[in-house]
Amino acid sequence: MRAPPSVAAMSIPNMRLNNGVELPAIGFGVFQTPSEETIAAVETALDVGYRHIDTAASYGNEREVGAAIQRSGLERSDVFIETKVWISDYGYDETLHAFDKSAGKLGIDQIDLLILHQALPGEFDRTIDAYKALETLLTDGKVRAIGVSNFMPDHLARLIDATSVVPAVNQIEVHPYFRQSELLAVNDARGIVSQAWSPIGGITFYRDGSHGSTLEDATIREIATAHGKTSAQVMLRWHVQQGRQIIPKSVTPSRIAENFDVFDFELTPDELAAIDALDTGVRGGRSPSRSPARTSASRSPKPEERHLHGAARIGRSLSSVRGGT
Ligand code: NAP
Repeated sequence: MRAPPSVAAMSIPNMRLNNGVELPAIGFGVFQTPSEETIAAVETALDVGYRHIDTAASYGNEREVGAAIQRSGLERSDVFIETKVWISDYGYDETLHAFDKSAGKLGIDQIDLLILHQALPGEFDRTIDAYKALETLLTDGKVRAIGVSNFMPDHLARLIDATSVVPAVNQIEVHPYFRQSELLAVNDARGIVSQAWSPIGGITFYRDGSHGSTLEDATIREIATAHGKTSAQVMLRWHVQQGRQIIPKSVTPSRIAENFDVFDFELTPDELAAIDALDTGVRGGRSPSRSPARTSASRSPKPEERHLHGAARIGRSLSSVRGGT
């Protein structure tokens, strides 16, 4: 076991969720991080000072996330662990069982934030039953906060009408080329923290690049040069100043450190507006308004769904993608 990191973690601001639980303003994503690289990536992140890890049953790396946290020597209470229930585990009893599977793999008794990976618009009753299971887990103290991902305004309205606990977070695709302003405003109005996935626009360049890479955007580059920062840092800072929580992913140690170093400069209102103006309205991930054709455990997500579902790396076996036992 290594010495606990003493780095900048203390100086990173927290965000307060709607139930009072505190979440670091920046977390570390592990979508598409192969399980064999996850321990090293998460260890590096914890060394750098990240104290929030975002994984998912469908990423197939919860076990390695847990192992890295254990190896870090940090107190369990010093690291905020978030994971997601996959759609094949929706339904009340199924989702209770999904908690047991994820907690078991992570090697913990309590998950800090457990969220539904996406709505199933065509089977919304199952989505609601899954969320009711999250409410039970919250009441029982097995999770500290609950939330959703990829929920559109109508999904939130239907869910909130049918349940008692307003989601603490809605984890959604947000980057300069797809800002989702209307959804951000709905989240705000409902007291839900917006967590930005693909915060530096990863989906604009690791997918098909059809609408260009945010990293190569001239406006963002110009702002970066003016601040002596990188384009990735400018995009992350843009989120921070607009009140969104961020979960950048990298397996590259220098980038892991670079992405964390976004709390020592300030973008001007004009710079924020210039980045807002880059919105193309074009979603990188799959539309959350469409249900997957089938949701049985026997079906593998199509490649284009992987970006929304987070079912990582092509070729990985479905059993690990499902996080199934
Ligand atoms: P991202 O964090 O915006 O971008 C990740 C990509 O950018 C990787 O290819 C990474 O490469 C590269 N990268 C990272 N830092 C960089 C830097 N400073 N300079 C240049 N390139 C850099 O995209 P994301 O992984 O899609 O999203 C982040 C997290 O959000 C995920 O890990 C996951 O936790 C979550 N997420 C959730 C959903 C959902 O449906 N809820 C969907 C997608 C993602 P290397 O790793 O090779 O360095």
